[in-house]
Amino acid sequence: MNEFKPRNFIQNIIDEDLEKNKEIKRIHTRFPPEPNGYLHIGHAKSICLNFGIAAEYGGLCNLRYDDTNPSKEDLEYVESIEEDVKWLGFDWEDRKYYASDYFEKMYECAEELIKAGKAFVCDLSAEEIRAYRGTLTEPGQESPYRNRSIEENLDLFRRMREGEFPDGSRTLRAKIDMASPNLNMRDPVLYRILRATHHRTGDKWCIYPMYDYAHPISDALEGITHSICTLEFEDHRPLYDWVINNLDLGAKPRQIEFARLDLTNTVMSKRKLRALVEEGVVDGWDDPRMPTISGIRRRGYTPEAIRDFCERIGVAKANSVVDISLLEHCIREDLNAKAPRVMAVLRPLKVIIVNYPEDQVEELPAENNPENPEMGTRMLPFSRELYIEQEDFMEEPPKKFFRLAPGKEVRLKHAYIIKCENVVKDEKTGEIIELHCTYDPETRSGLGQSNRKVKGTLHWVSAAHAIKAEVRLFDYLFINEGEEEVLNPHSLERLSSCMLEPGLKKANPGDKFQFLRQGYFCVDKDSTPEKLVFNRIVSLRDTWAKLQKK
Ligand code: ATP
Ligand code: MG
Repeated sequence: MNEFKPRNFIQNIIDEDLEKNKEIKRIHTRFPPEPNGYLHIGHAKSICLNFGIAAEYGGLCNLRYDDTNPSKEDLEYVESIEEDVKWLGFDWEDRKYYASDYFEKMYECAEELIKAGKAFVCDLSAEEIRAYRGTLTEPGQESPYRNRSIEENLDLFRRMREGEFPDGSRTLRAKIDMASPNLNMRDPVLYRILRATHHRTGDKWCIYPMYDYAHPISDALEGITHSICTLEFEDHRPLYDWVINNLDLGAKPRQIEFARLDLTNTVMSKRKLRALVEEGVVDGWDDPRMPTISGIRRRGYTPEAIRDFCERIGVAKANSVVDISLLEHCIREDLNAKAPRVMAVLRPLKVIIVNYPEDQVEELPAENNPENPEMGTRMLPFSRELYIEQEDFMEEPPKKFFRLAPGKEVRLKHAYIIKCENVVKDEKTGEIIELHCTYDPETRSGLGQSNRKVKGTLHWVSAAHAIKAEVRLFDYLFINEGEEEVLNPHSLERLSSCMLEPGLKKANPGDKFQFLRQGYFCVDKDSTPEKLVFNRIVSLRDTWAKLQKK
C-alpha cells in the first residue's frame, strides 16, 4: 500500500473501531453475491474493497452466497462468480459459505424472537401489508394479528414450516414500530411462504428468510466485523442492528455503506443485463461488450487493470457516475508495458512496389515493445506486394494528411520510404484496387544509411506472408441521450478480411497485442488455428488523459 495515499472513510471507521473496541481481534469482511446472474464491474469494486480491506488489516474475507431467493438462483451463476473472483486475484481460501447453510439456525432465531414477543405471524396479504404500512409522512397501521399470543405464533410459525399454508398466505413479521419514521422498521417481514426448489436445499424448505433478516445473522455467525454494502442499504441499517441486538449471536458486526459504482455508457443491474442476454441483444453474459467481469475478461481486460481502476475510483459516501474512459485508461496503461507491438491491417489496400525485385523477400528486424526493450525483436518479411490500411491513402488529400497520396512519400514502419506513383482503379466502379509505388532502397530503417525523414509512418504487412483474420471492433453498448442510456445499434463491427503479420499465427485465445496505430487487441475464445478472431479491447486514443489535461 502507498503510505502517502489518503485514508478513505471506511479505513477511518475501522481504525477507530480497532482503537475503541478491544474485542475486535481481527478484521473480517465478506463479499456476499446473490447467485442470480453474472458479476459485473460494480461487483469488482465491492470485491476489491472487501478483500482489499481484509488484506490491509491482516484479516480475512469470506465468499458468501446470499442465496435466500430460490426462484432466481442457479448453479451456473455460482460457478461463474467463483471464476470471476479468482480471476480478479482474490482468495477466500476455505471460507466459502452459503446463507442457505444457516437456514436451520435462522429458523431457531425466529422462534427465539417469537418467544421474546418480538415477532408474530401475520395473515395479511402482501397488498394489505403494503396498505397498512403508511407513507413517509403518515404512520402505518398495526396489523390486526400483531397481538397474537406467543403460543399461537409459535404454533402457526411451525405449521408454516410444515407446509400447512399456501404460498403468500402468511408471513412472520418483526414486532418493532408501525409509527417509525423509517419504513423498514414498520414491522418488517422476516419470513415468507414460498414453494420453490432451492439450488442447494432442494424442497426442504417452504419458508424463506428475507434478506434484511438473513444478512445480519449470516454476518454474525461468520464473525464478520465489518459488513460493507452499498448505499441503498443505509435505511436498512437500523433493522440490521435490531436483528443483531435482539438475538444472542455472539459477534456484533457493523454495517458500513459506500456508494455503488455507476459507469457512463453502461447499465449495471443484473436484471437489465439478464434481459440483454435473454433477448439476444448480446452473445451471452460474456459478450465482450458486456460490463460483466466475464465479458470484460473475454474482451481482453487484465485483472491488474481492473484492480487499478477500483483503486483509482476510491470509495465515497455519495453516488456519482464514473467516466468509462477512466477504465479504458487503466487497461491502456497496463498493456502499454506488457503487450507486444505488431502490425495488422484491418481494411487492406494492395500496394505494389514496382521497383522491388519480384522474388525477393527481406527479413527486417522490428522491436517488440519500445517501452520494454527486454521484450526483444522479431523479423518481419518485406516483399514486392504489401497491404496498407485503406484509410491511409487519399487520392485528393486535405492539407495536413501526412499519409499516402499520389506523388507523396511515407515511411513504412521498420522498412523503407515509398512513394505513390500510380493509382489503379476498377474501370467500371472507379473503386481503388491497388497502388503502384516505388521504394527508396537507401532508406531502410535501422541501418543508418539514410537519415532522410518523411512526416508519415504507416503500418503494413507483406501480402504473400500475411495471415487473414477476423477482427471485431466494439462501440459502447449504450449511448447517453439526455438522462437515459439507450441501446447503441452499432456496437459491433466485424471485419472479416484483416491481414496480420505472420508471427500472429501462433496466437492463442487470451493473448493480447498492440496493433500499431489501431489499439489493443485480444484473441477471442471463438478463435481457431484456421480462423483467428481478435477483439479490440480499446483504441489508442486516451480520452481520459486528455480530459485530465484540460
Ligand atoms: P445488481 O443491482 O446489479 O443486481 P446486487 O446488489 O443485487 O446488484 P448482489 O449480488 O446482491 O448484487 O451484490 C453483491 C455485493 O456487491 C453487494 O454487497 C452489493 O452491495 C455489491 N454491489 C453490487 N453492485 C455494485 C456496484 N455497482 N458497485 C459497488 N458494489 C456493488
Ligand atoms: Mg442484491
